[in-house]
Amino acid sequence: MRNVDHTHMRELNIALILEYLRRDAPLSRTHLAQLTGLNKATVTSLVRELLESDFVHESGTDVGDIGRPAIRLSLNPRAGYIIGAEIGVDFVLVILTNFSGDVVWRRRETTRPRERQEVVLDLLDAVLQDACQYAHAQGMRLLGLGLGVPGLVDVTAGTLLFAPNLGWADVPLKARLQRKFKMPIEVANEANLAALGESYFGAARGVNFVLYVSAGIGLGGGIVLNREVLPGAAGFAGEVGHMTMDPNGAQCNCGNFGCWETFVSQWAVFRRVREAVEGGRPSTLTTTCGGDWGRLTVPDVVDAARAGDGVARDALAETGRYLGIGLANLINALNPERVVLGGALCQGHAFLMPSLTAEVERRALRASRDKTEIVVATYGTEASVMGGVASIFHRILSQPLEVTRAEAVAPPTGAARR
Ligand SMILES: [Zn+2]
Repeated sequence: MRNVDHTHMRELNIALILEYLRRDAPLSRTHLAQLTGLNKATVTSLVRELLESDFVHESGTDVGDIGRPAIRLSLNPRAGYIIGAEIGVDFVLVILTNFSGDVVWRRRETTRPRERQEVVLDLLDAVLQDACQYAHAQGMRLLGLGLGVPGLVDVTAGTLLFAPNLGWADVPLKARLQRKFKMPIEVANEANLAALGESYFGAARGVNFVLYVSAGIGLGGGIVLNREVLPGAAGFAGEVGHMTMDPNGAQCNCGNFGCWETFVSQWAVFRRVREAVEGGRPSTLTTTCGGDWGRLTVPDVVDAARAGDGVARDALAETGRYLGIGLANLINALNPERVVLGGALCQGHAFLMPSLTAEVERRALRASRDKTEIVVATYGTEASVMGGVASIFHRILSQPLEVTRAEAVAPPTGAARR
């Protein structure tokens, strides 16, 4: 029992050191001891272990407090590569990052919407194989794979339960991937991962309580508290798009009527454009889509708005207004430190924000909104894959010994090692 406690304590302390180095490196051993509250001997011993496992490296010297040189420690970018992946409605995206979170390789493949499941999964496997080969050619071990999917996920089993926009149900993704890729694997909802990605690497770095809202094909979200996604009772917290905004509203994909998502999504923007044009207002978008409104894209609308098209501007402003109304509700309910807006619609943030902030000002409780900052996501369409990477970071930070000792996949013998 005492031995278990000791190992657990050691693990917590290693995680603490890694977390400080991730956030504030470079740091000396003395500085780490001050920040963590651990004694210098403990820090020295734990750092030795981290140096031996290559997670940390010495990155130069500083003049210390009493004139003696202090060795600077940082996370070693070459500690290993991490894979972030996402299955979207019409794409597969895979990135590789180093241990500092810098993207070193990426590939995006387009898929046909409603493509057969096996075709999409085979394509994902092929792109993942290429990513692994690249890592091995660089002599890098693989620390794990984090995959985001647009649906409800049982994160413990790694099973996609239901993805209405893909038309998939009950897909044991983690089990399938685990057969081919021998490394730690995490599977989660793409919006939850994006929330984690922005909180680890992006617009909410260093913030403890984050509400991420993603507007694109649908309207999703994720809540991150102390760098952990808030799961809810069954892992489905953050499905903000299905709050009822109008009890008599249009039917949503989820079956309910008047969901927030029916007011805020790319389809809602396109609908507003079409209605304005059908009501007799002139717009350059009529020519852009050649009479077929189904061909309209978010960049089309944003470009038109930038060029001064009144219909495009009004459609985005109206969407921003409804985004703001829902956010005011969420700010009142949650009192987050920071709200991060992501998803494809954020390309038009310059036209969404004025009406959005006006609604939040008008509707949210003053005390609550004064403490909440609303910002645009750093990673845009790559927030979810960065979140996949963050989920593996999170796993390493929670259980560093597991990864340092056992699970990391070494490159095959014969590959160059730095
Ligand atoms: Zn709904």
